[in-house]
Amino acid sequence: ATPTALTVATSRLSRSGILVRRAHVLDTLPRVSRIVFDKTGTLTKGEVAVSSVALLAELSESDVLALAAALEAQSEHPIARAFAPYRQQGLMVTERENRVGRGVSGLIDGHRWRLGSGAWLAPDNQDAELCVYLANERGLVARVVLTDPLREEADTLIRDCRAKGIATTILTGDSSGQAEQVAERLGVDKLVKHASPDDKLAYLRRCGRAGEICLMVGDGINDAPVLAGAHVSFAMAGGTDIAKNSADALLLSDNLQHILTARHIAARCRRVIK
Ligand code: ADP
Ligand code: MG
Repeated sequence: ATPTALTVATSRLSRSGILVRRAHVLDTLPRVSRIVFDKTGTLTKGEVAVSSVALLAELSESDVLALAAALEAQSEHPIARAFAPYRQQGLMVTERENRVGRGVSGLIDGHRWRLGSGAWLAPDNQDAELCVYLANERGLVARVVLTDPLREEADTLIRDCRAKGIATTILTGDSSGQAEQVAERLGVDKLVKHASPDDKLAYLRRCGRAGEICLMVGDGINDAPVLAGAHVSFAMAGGTDIAKNSADALLLSDNLQHILTARHIAARCRRVIK
C-alpha cells in the first residue's frame, strides 16, 4: 500500500500546484516546526518598481535611471526589474560584476559605477524604505526608493501558521527598515536581516541544533545554499533556476498558501502509510 499512497499524494500535490522534486518532502513536511521565508520575491511579489529618485550629485533623474538600467541589464535580482523600463540605447557596460547580496557594478565610459544596497554603498545611512544607491568613484550620485508589494496571501498564511503552532522567520539580505515593516505587518515571529548566504545557512543550522525542523522558502541566487541546506525547501516557480534546482519542491503558481496545503496532504499520506 505504501507506494500507492505516495503516488496518490504526489499527484494530489501536483494538482494543488506543488511539484515534489525529492521524495523525502512527504515525510519531512508534517514535522516542520518553523517556516523560514526570504523576503524579496518570496513574501513580496518581486514586482519591484521605482517610486522616487533623490539626486545627490549633478546628474538628472533620467540619467540616473538609464545608468541603473544599464548596470542591471544582466541581473536576475527582482530589483533589476524596476529599472528595465528605463533602458536606453548606447550605454555600454564592461567589466560587469554581480555582487550577491549587495548589488551590481560595471565600467561605463571608463568610470566604475555601482548600484546596490545602503549597507554596501552608504553604510552611514539608515533606510526606512526599500531603496538602492547609485555611486561612482567620487561618491553617491542618487538614492532610488523602490516599492515591492506583499503577496496577497502572505497575511493569511502567517496567521494560519500561528494557528497551527508553526513558528515563522524572515531571513533577508536586505538591511532597510522595510524588512521590519513587513515582519511587523505580517506578525512574523523572528526577523533576521542583513544576512549573507553564509549567514542564512548558519541561522538554519542554529535552528536545527535547537531541535527545530525548518522549511525554507526562497527564490533568489542568494537563497540557493540555504534551500539546499534546509530540512525541506520550496522555491517559487518565478524564481531563479539555481533556486529551483536547489529546492526539494516548487510552488508552481507562486502561491505561498500552497505550502500549508502540501503539509496537509503529506500528513494525511503519512497516516495512511502508518
Ligand atoms: P533578499 O534576501 O531580500 O532577497 P539579497 O540578499 O538578494 O536580498 O540582497 C540584499 C540587498 O542587496 C538588497 O535589498 C539590495 O539592496 C541589494 N541588492 C542585491 N542585488 C541587487 C541588484 N541586482 N541590484 C541592486 N541592489 C541589489
Ligand atoms: Mg529573494
